[in-house]
Amino acid sequence: MKINKSFILWRLPLILITASISIFAYSLLVSKWHRVEALAQNQPIKTAKSQVEPQNHIYFNIPTKFASSTFYQADLQKGEKYIALTFDDGPAAHFTDQIIKILHQNNIKATFFMIGENVKTYPQQAKNVIANGNVIGNHTWHHWYRSMSPQLAASEIENTANIIYKTTGAKTTLFPPPGGILDNGVAAYAKNQKDGIIIWSDDSEDWRRPAASTLVKRVVKQATPGGIILMHDGGGNRSNTVAALPQIISTLRQQGYKFVTIPELLQIQNKEQTVAVKKETKIPPTPSVSGGLKTPFSPLTRQS
Ligand SMILES: [Zn+2]
Repeated sequence: MKINKSFILWRLPLILITASISIFAYSLLVSKWHRVEALAQNQPIKTAKSQVEPQNHIYFNIPTKFASSTFYQADLQKGEKYIALTFDDGPAAHFTDQIIKILHQNNIKATFFMIGENVKTYPQQAKNVIANGNVIGNHTWHHWYRSMSPQLAASEIENTANIIYKTTGAKTTLFPPPGGILDNGVAAYAKNQKDGIIIWSDDSEDWRRPAASTLVKRVVKQATPGGIILMHDGGGNRSNTVAALPQIISTLRQQGYKFVTIPELLQIQNKEQTVAVKKETKIPPTPSVSGGLKTPFSPLTRQS
């Protein structure tokens, strides 16, 4: 067969170039599609984005009437066995995720009191805490115990609030002062900001790294309705805490305890007190003899 000379000279190279461009573009498209697909399969949580989307903003608030109050535990009505697990000083490289997993397996939400510089170092772990429905509190940037000026206290708290917000989209009014210290200036700043100051009633002392069995006994022994359990996911090797956690959960559950977050715990107290106040108002007031303005809780009538 005779092939036209001009066809070989002009058309064939054109066809070849067009074909190779098409193949190249197609292969690019396919490889990108595969990359997107692989990314979607490996995506552990929904919030694993560098930017926080406006619709993902979360607020961890305490009831308004508890603003600036300090809590060692919640004051619940008799028989109400609610208790809160709290984990301090994280997020950390491995232990935070291990604790989240145990909580998830047991269908429990807990409260994580995070250090600002650790949120900066381990942003993914901070996101994982939120993605699994847990709560965050502001545990300052450096976890210092020293005396602080209002300016230093402000930078410790506000820088931490900013990194928590930028990383997870969460804003919190929970302030657990490092070491439970209330008089070094940092808690005073948080109180001025109307935060709730959160301490604890059940200290695991897990930072001393006792055996898991000791941790279980210690936490269970101090457990009380409305209690706040202090444990740590950060600040050191927390493998004993991780090892003890499943048994702490199962033992307390056998005793009838239900696990809640700190905002939930305070909401329960608030609701009960509101109900109690409503009941009280139904009782007719006793007539005042003097007709004065004194109330039973006036500082003037106190003995001490
Ligand atoms: Zn701490």
